[in-house]
Amino acid sequence: MSVQRAIWSRFEPVDLNEHELALQQHVREFLREELPRGTYVPGLGMNAAPDPEFSKKLATRGWLGMALPRRYGGGDRSVVERFVVTEELLRWGAPTGHHWIADRQSGPVINRFGTEEQKTRFLPGICRGELAFSIGMSEPDAGSDLASVKTRAERVDGGWLVNGTKVWTTGAHRNDWLITLCRTTEEADRHRGLSQLIIDLRGDGVQVKGIPFLDGTSDFNEVALRDVFVPDDLLLGEPGSGWAQSGSELAYERGGPERWLSTYIVAEQFLRELQAEGRPLPAGVAQLFGEAVARWWCLRGMSLGVARRLDAGENAAVDAALVKEMGTRFEQDVLAAIERLADLEPSPQSASLFERLLVTSVLAAPSYTLRGGTTEVLRSVVMKGLTA
Ligand SMILES: Cc1cc2nc3c(=O)[nH]c(=O)nc-3n(C[C@H](O)[C@H](O)[C@H](O)COP(=O)(O)OP(=O)(O)OC[C@H]3O[C@@H](n4cnc5c(N)ncnc54)[C@H](O)[C@@H]3O)c2cc1C
Repeated sequence: MSVQRAIWSRFEPVDLNEHELALQQHVREFLREELPRGTYVPGLGMNAAPDPEFSKKLATRGWLGMALPRRYGGGDRSVVERFVVTEELLRWGAPTGHHWIADRQSGPVINRFGTEEQKTRFLPGICRGELAFSIGMSEPDAGSDLASVKTRAERVDGGWLVNGTKVWTTGAHRNDWLITLCRTTEEADRHRGLSQLIIDLRGDGVQVKGIPFLDGTSDFNEVALRDVFVPDDLLLGEPGSGWAQSGSELAYERGGPERWLSTYIVAEQFLRELQAEGRPLPAGVAQLFGEAVARWWCLRGMSLGVARRLDAGENAAVDAALVKEMGTRFEQDVLAAIERLADLEPSPQSASLFERLLVTSVLAAPSYTLRGGTTEVLRSVVMKGLTA
């Protein structure tokens, strides 16, 4: 099959049905009431602030763990319905940081590979917005080349003894648990012999040290694991299946609206403040928004297609990689175009919300094409997948 045909067959046009549109309306009303504009600083996509109380409000409405089974506190709803809710939260800049990772991928991965005991132990807390998770994949010498992780889990009586260092671990300083990819046996094929362990971030031997980001804040960390004992009942899935399990997480991690909406708020606020001036829009603004809306609509359709494929139980890893490759470049392109048009030295102290958002996004945007897999690596995943 040609690459072009392979892409078309994966991304058929997808519309929201009546029920999904009603849900969208419901979330918009909730946000207008609970989080009126002007009463909070909007966050940029999944970098939005953690707010456990806000997460609990979403949980009360059944908007966390939506696609998880009802018997574990979930909503038995679809991945598309979760898409509808998260799209609105991101467009509003809502403070989703507390529950983000657990709701997006840790919950689904525990539901898919976990034991009955693990599901009963973790999923209800995730669905109530109480338990927060971090992703323990990257290491100082293992980012794109994840199979070279050196964190080792050694078999001991009743469990595993873990030693190693994870890096860039978002939220580890405030979250509860870390799903950790580590080597449990040495194998000739590096993709074998890896396993996932659920590690208590506040347990003995776990040291979390913040890594300052460009803007001076620190939301990601280095996590040193020194002789950390992990009982057998916290091994996730089969020993040696960590590579495949982590790979399946990436479909949830890469294909959602957070990969093309990080700079939406900046663009919206730019337009809002220009319109408030009451003068004709400067040259170039219509072209910027025309181009952005066209690309955004296309990405949205592709991303929705990933959600529908996940609902159908299909493997969407390649599709999700394509969405992330295109989506994160789009986010950066829109920002660069706004910077050119605005033509100012934005100040973090400015009275203009647009200027303050511009400062934050200019500092955050380089990370969009790195976190969750770099552009170069995603291209390689896509081409291998489409030509296989
Ligand atoms: C804001 C942010 C949050 C993050 N949060 C987490 C987290 O919570 N948990 C976690 O585990 N990780 C996290 N990461 C890490 C992220 O997944 C890695 O940064 C990413 O996978 C790249 O790995 P690396 O930084 O080691 O770069 P490297 O793998 O060293 O890559 C360096 C450069 O080489 C290129 N390159 C590497 N291999 C190839 C290849 N085969 N072909 C072509 N080019 C290649 C890359 O594209 C890149 O440009 C986060 C990163 C950021 C920026």
